[in-house]
Amino acid sequence: NKSLRKAVIAGNWKMNKTRPEAKALIEELKPLVANASCDVVACVPFTNLETVLDAAKGSNIKVGAQNCHFEKSGAFTGEISADMLKEMGVEYVVIGHSERRQYFGETDITVNKRTKAALAAGLKVILCVGEMLEDRENGITEELVALQTKIALKDVSKEDLKNVIIAYEPVWAIGTGKTATSEQANEVCAVIRSVIAKVYDKTAADGMTIQYGGSMNAGNAAELLAQPDVDGGLIGGASLKAPDFAVIVDAAT
Ligand code: PGA
Repeated sequence: NKSLRKAVIAGNWKMNKTRPEAKALIEELKPLVANASCDVVACVPFTNLETVLDAAKGSNIKVGAQNCHFEKSGAFTGEISADMLKEMGVEYVVIGHSERRQYFGETDITVNKRTKAALAAGLKVILCVGEMLEDRENGITEELVALQTKIALKDVSKEDLKNVIIAYEPVWAIGTGKTATSEQANEVCAVIRSVIAKVYDKTAADGMTIQYGGSMNAGNAAELLAQPDVDGGLIGGASLKAPDFAVIVDAAT
């Protein structure tokens, strides 16, 4: 029952936009999404956080980072802690994106550690799971995504789970223009919801916002978002163009 949960449309800007470009994109986006009935989030590079927090002030656009480390502080050159993000006023953080898993050695175990660190700092987590093309071809999508979800949420309390959104992102659909069909997207989102019901309970599962991500755009968003278990989207490429992102936000409302 979709009325039990909030739709969330989050942009994942990835490694794009200088500060002036980031400010311009938020300024363009603000009036276009001002009447959204879903939550709107922009997950931006660390260097843009202060600029975007400033530009989004007083608007309904919430701000997120794209990663954080699991240690509180110390000798971790190049890393950013959850507390550093929280102190700035950042509200969300993406954890376990497939690009982090593929290119930066993230594993289910470090995703779990980062998730717990972010929640302990008071951040909301957009937790990414999803299969590679090979996994889908081997017929193990559901088991794999269920396992990713379970490990990522190990030792996360039911109370903390309220601050978690799960993004189902089939890796073969990210940045490829190949979207999962709405049936495929819904099927796996429903599997994730059943995992939450098993590990926690039905109330937790009913209340869990589960996004689809992977080449969602202005043209296909409405159909994907209309699926009963798809409660929002994590948007890469299309989040870099304000009019396109705004169409997706409208489709969720
Ligand atoms: P895409 O990226 O929309 O460009 O496919 C989605 C994501 O990686 O979150």
